[in-house]
Parts: sequence; structure tokens; C-alpha cells
Amino acid sequence: MTSGITSGLAYLPGGRPGPGVLAEVSLELLDIGPAHLALPEVIVRDERAGVLFGGVDLHVEPAAGGGPVGTPEDQLRARAFGVVNVAFHAQRALRTANNLLGRPLPRLLVRIGMHEQSRRWGGGHYRVAARQFDPAEPVEVEASGEVHLGGGSVYLAGVSGEPYWNAPAHNLAIVYHEVGHHICRHTADFRLNHLRPALHQTNKKVAIDEGTCDLLTAIMLDEPDIYGWHRVGLPATDQRRRMLDPRWTMAHFHGGTADPHADGTLWASACWSARSAVIGGGHGPDRFDRMLLRGMELSARLSGTKLSEQALRRRRYFAGMLEAMLLADPDLTDPVLAGMAAHGIRPGVSNAELRDRARAGLAAVTVR
Ligand SMILES: [Zn+2]
Repeated sequence: MTSGITSGLAYLPGGRPGPGVLAEVSLELLDIGPAHLALPEVIVRDERAGVLFGGVDLHVEPAAGGGPVGTPEDQLRARAFGVVNVAFHAQRALRTANNLLGRPLPRLLVRIGMHEQSRRWGGGHYRVAARQFDPAEPVEVEASGEVHLGGGSVYLAGVSGEPYWNAPAHNLAIVYHEVGHHICRHTADFRLNHLRPALHQTNKKVAIDEGTCDLLTAIMLDEPDIYGWHRVGLPATDQRRRMLDPRWTMAHFHGGTADPHADGTLWASACWSARSAVIGGGHGPDRFDRMLLRGMELSARLSGTKLSEQALRRRRYFAGMLEAMLLADPDLTDPVLAGMAAHGIRPGVSNAELRDRARAGLAAVTVR
């Protein structure tokens, strides 16, 4: 086929309950195959059997996510829609990051329908090449990183309350979060994978990585309750909802072996407050987003060229990332410090110390 701008159907943020607002969107396409779309920034491939695209028409209906009780035709349609939906949103996120950074990130591979052999999988994960994987990977993983999405595991309520199969490829929050890990890997690189052999990297994620991905998701959705569709059963007061909210401060930080997603919510919420303060000061949201992306890139450079336990520990500190952001755009220091301080985060202090101070009631210190 000839490459170029083409149109198709995808979900746009909004329209809850439900996965989004169905709309015609434009994407730049290089190539289309029976079950894949190749774009300049991303290749999206459904790894299950079957022909999804017989031609170049990307106007495929979502078929309520397909699902096990749908007809075989509905399941194929839902899978084709999922490929288009992921391609559009991955391209949108990566183009946003590329523009803010002023350079292109490595092309991303997204595989859909993975890890379905022994159970249904409703999630997603980001993987770089490593010696071992948990769960084991049935395929060779690209050194530059790939996103894997399951085929879905549960029905949720659609727009009108009808059953909707929560296929991760239809769920914008899952897609943006996982693409966020690719952006993190090639900027902040919280695990210093660029200092490891390309085929022996680590996939262990830390709280600041998970929190930054949730923040990037909120930025792309323009919505702090990022998982408000599929986690609606959890109250907003439950940290596992992972809603970006002023209530989460360092007093709620656990650290150690605790779930990095829940701890990441504190960092994401603090950044969201800082972003709101920047906007409240009369700046456009892009100003904060550029500071964030450039700060992420700068933080990796500041961490040096030696892979050590100490360097890895410092990469986990929220304060270290904050300091790099302030270096990236010093003019935003006041609103960003004010937003962070409301969550008990300030420069020069480890996560454990920030937690202890917040729990001791010192979090109200306002940095001016
Ligand atoms: Zn994650």
C-alpha cells in the first residue's frame, strides 16, 4: 500500500462509563498487513490467528470489545478495532513526547493477545530484553522495548450499561500507561538499563516509574481519574484506584517491597498538583509537560555512567526527579515546589525521609 495519512475509527477520551467516545481519527500509516499496522513511531500487531485487515479500510466498529460470548465475526472486528485504536493512541503519545523532547524515541512494538495460553489476561506490561522474565516470554523481546497487551478477562459496563469486554487494546488508560514505560525507558531510565548489556536489561519497575506512567496517562487523557472506567468498583479513597488526587501524600508511601503502582500514585498526584499550579500561574499545560520530559532526560544524564546500588537507589528518589525538572525549567520553580510541597515532596531528601517527615506532621512545610 502507499504510505500516508489515513483515517479510521478509535476511541477518544471521555464518555464514561465506557471505553471512550467513538470518533473518526487520522493516523500516519506506512504499511498494513493481515494483522498489523506499521507507523513511523510504532508497529502494532495482533499475535493471534486470523486475518483482521483485508484492505486498507480502518473504519472498523469496536463490537463491544468482542469477548467470549460474541460471534467469531464480532471477535475479529473487535481485534481489528483494537489494533487501530492502539496505533492511533501510541502514535499520539509518542509524537507528543518526541515533540517535547525535540528528538524521536526508538520505534515501539506493541503485541496484542499475548500470554493467553493458560488463562485470560486483562492487563498489559512493558518488556525489554532480559535474561529471564516473569511471566516467561514465548517470544524474543526487542532490546529497545515492547508493549504486550492481553486479550481481556472481564466484562464491564459500556456507555449504556451494556456488557463490554474490557479488551486492553480498547482501554486508553492501559495503552497510555504501557506506552509511558517506553517513554520512561528512553528518557529517565529509572533502572539504568542503558548501562547494562542490551540483552541483559531488567524489567523490575519502581514506584517513580509507575507513577510517571500514570501521570503521562493523565496528561494524554486530560483526566486525573485515569482508571475510572475499569476500576470504578474501587472507591476514590482506595489507593489501588490510582486516581491522581490531592489526598495522597508521602504519609501514604510504603516503599520496600510494597506495590510500586500504589506508591507511584503519590508521585503522580504530586506532579498533577504541580502541573495544575503551573497552569494556575497562567502557563499552558505544555510548559509543565516539556519540563517533565526534559527533566526526565536530564535526570538520567545526571546519574552518571556507573551502574551501582547507590546510583539505582538515588534514581528511585522523587526528590531527585524534582531537582532535574527544576533544572530543566527554573522559571517554574515556585509553582512546582508549591504543588509538590502539598504532597510532602521537596528537594534533597530520600523517599523514606520524606515519608517519615510527612508522618511526623512536617509535611505542611511550605517551600517558597
Ligand atoms: Zn506499569
